Amino acid sequence: MISSDAKVLLIYTGGTIGMVENIETGALEAFDFSHLKSNVPEMKRLRFSVDTYLFDPPIDSSEVNLHNWIAMAKVVENNYDKYDGFVILHGTDTMSYTASVLSFMFENLTKPVILTGSQLPIGKLRTDGKENLITALEIAADKYEDGRPVVPELCVYMQNLLMRGNRTTKINADNFSAFNSPNYAYLAEAGLNIKYHDKFILNPDYDKPVCFNYELDNNVAILKLFPGIQPSLVEAVLTMPGLRGVVLETFGSGNALRDYWFIDLLDTALKNGIVVVNVTQCLYGNVEMHRYGTGQHLERLGVVSGHDITTEAALTKLMSLLGNNKEYDDIRHLMSISLRGEMS
Ligand code: ASP
Repeated sequence: MISSDAKVLLIYTGGTIGMVENIETGALEAFDFSHLKSNVPEMKRLRFSVDTYLFDPPIDSSEVNLHNWIAMAKVVENNYDKYDGFVILHGTDTMSYTASVLSFMFENLTKPVILTGSQLPIGKLRTDGKENLITALEIAADKYEDGRPVVPELCVYMQNLLMRGNRTTKINADNFSAFNSPNYAYLAEAGLNIKYHDKFILNPDYDKPVCFNYELDNNVAILKLFPGIQPSLVEAVLTMPGLRGVVLETFGSGNALRDYWFIDLLDTALKNGIVVVNVTQCLYGNVEMHRYGTGQHLERLGVVSGHDITTEAALTKLMSLLGNNKEYDDIRHLMSISLRGEMS
């Protein structure tokens, strides 16, 4: 139910969605969000109010950094009590990283924060941006009769699908269906109506306050294995100065080579207090290190299973836990369990 007193804050951070085509020159130019309603006339028909907050200059999401993430979180925190929900317009390139990191920065979120963007600029005739924008706003405004929001969590909405943000990954550089949530059910599907799948949506404790956590540590790395990988490459990554956490992208159900040099390098890194999390290179499925000998040795060394977490979520979760200076064993434990619904 969308109530007419609902208020949504639309935060424009950048990305393709915020562009228009100059009809005379054909060039893509930044869209003037302060004239949103005249540029997107459909906005006038929304039955709730929408205020806008603009990042200036806009960020191409392939250049997003930790400061930008903190700035986005601050806008939500500073306006948390004034709005029923938030829509963050963001470039699609790194949207899953931003969705994941914000999910860890927000603890006990009790309002919808929906990230959306588009593959074609909003000012293009065939844009996917308008539908994404309008439906994301409607979802952010949707409340039950008792005033509780329908989706009190951090989501990505793209091309008719509402997904848990930290479960998403960008799967297509061309199609409008650019995102998927391979290991978790959709939270809602938009057709003639928006169909919510309530049993998959988080149910926060409304008596607890929401906490905003700004500490992030980017002394982390992603190490993607491939057949023929050189010892010098693995060594360069695992001995990076200041390194504290590694997402090890392994094969299949969490398997890796057993060459002595690899085991040695990994063992030294673990003994030096680096947290290593095993994430599969497969889009679907789980890490199960006990299945094969090529996984068992990782488990014995002390590599943590990331189960079915995405690389984006594993990396940003590490950034958040390391930033909060938790103890080594606590981080290893917290990486192996779900904190925000990021793993099954
Ligand atoms: N490079 C753009 C961005 O991520 C692409 C997009 O928005 O789809 O900001």
